[in-house]
Amino acid sequence: MSLKIHTLEDLNLDKVGAVLCRVDFNVPLHEGEVGDDTRIRAALPTLYWLRERGLKVVLCSHLGRPKGTRDPALSLLPVAARLAELIEDEVVFAHDTVGDEVLQLVRELPERGVIVLENLRFDPRETKGDDEFARDLARLADAFVLDAFGAMHRAHASVTGVPKHLPSAAGLLVQAEVEALSALTRVAARPYAAILGGAKVADKIGVIESLAPRIDRLYIGGAMAYTFLKAQGVPTGSSRTEDDALDLALRLIELCSTHNVQVHLPHDHVVAPSFDENAPATVVQTIQDGQLGLDIGPATAEAWQAGLQECRTIFWNGPLGVFEWEPFSGGTRAIAKALAASTGTTVVGGGDSAAAVARFGLADQMTHVSTGGGASLEFLERGELPGLHAIRRR
Ligand code: ADP
Ligand code: MG
Repeated sequence: MSLKIHTLEDLNLDKVGAVLCRVDFNVPLHEGEVGDDTRIRAALPTLYWLRERGLKVVLCSHLGRPKGTRDPALSLLPVAARLAELIEDEVVFAHDTVGDEVLQLVRELPERGVIVLENLRFDPRETKGDDEFARDLARLADAFVLDAFGAMHRAHASVTGVPKHLPSAAGLLVQAEVEALSALTRVAARPYAAILGGAKVADKIGVIESLAPRIDRLYIGGAMAYTFLKAQGVPTGSSRTEDDALDLALRLIELCSTHNVQVHLPHDHVVAPSFDENAPATVVQTIQDGQLGLDIGPATAEAWQAGLQECRTIFWNGPLGVFEWEPFSGGTRAIAKALAASTGTTVVGGGDSAAAVARFGLADQMTHVSTGGGASLEFLERGELPGLHAIRRR
């Protein structure tokens, strides 16, 4: 399939010594150490590809939201240390992002040498998309590889700015993400189902609007289900609902019916008297006053599992309950298992959904688990991302 973006194979490496690679090392840190290294591992194929060709690799990323100032708690130093363990080789760490000292460190690197720059967002110019900052980053290398899928929806200096100054290409992670997600935006095998959960309706409007013409079924769980149920006059007790989104929910249901999409909402629920991990959990068909729905119920989970078995393409974004708490994780686990068992194409997008699938040990049984939450939704909605646009073939 032709991606219409520049890939690694397109880069002319004849005169290239060092490659600047924008990765997504935005990992959770716990007490100064990397908590989950999934995103670091996701960057390895491109790193190996570049090193195998004798190239020096300059890795850059953001971490958290330091708001343009140095925040020692958000240094990428622990990430560089974890990377060194993973590749079992030396990794140099630059305590800055641009400038003569960093340039000197890059010059001193041996062939195949790896350097990690400090957090890009320590410099306020990164999120502003400042062109001078992009130019300074570009000075560090002879070519640019964009492999930070999770940041591709941001028009930041290291995403959309650098490609203006260097020959640029997508890395292997971005290529894999784009291939997997594009399959969902073109002609997909049917029945095609989307499962949406998670907390906020507003986050998912765009994706519902763009998927409605293409999908056959929409399963709505998680907290957002209660807004849809309430909009239809179903009692939701003290469940989390967005009362300013009730009309919107009705409009989205209407849109789905225009496109002949079956909409499935939960018909039983795991409820508790308070939003608390240790609150007593019970299963109900009708939510009473004082009860909060914290997961889809077992009958709903079973019905949805059966329905999903018939589907040839499944896209899932957003947990179906408060999966972080064991008593309310059953619905999310059941749906993760249904996707794992499916012989069709299964794509999971979204930070928390991906974390859930990883926690259940089912990630490698999916066709694709996207590393990007916001980026995967925006790509499905619009079929384009600012970062992709920057490396399109013209
Ligand atoms: P993703 O990161 O996969 O896109 P979201 O960020 O939209 O997902 O939503 C994830 C959050 O939604 C989780 O923290 C989960 O606990 C929460 N959630 C899911 N169901 C409920 C519910 N019924 N009530 C409250 N929070 C919920
Ligand atoms: Mg989330």
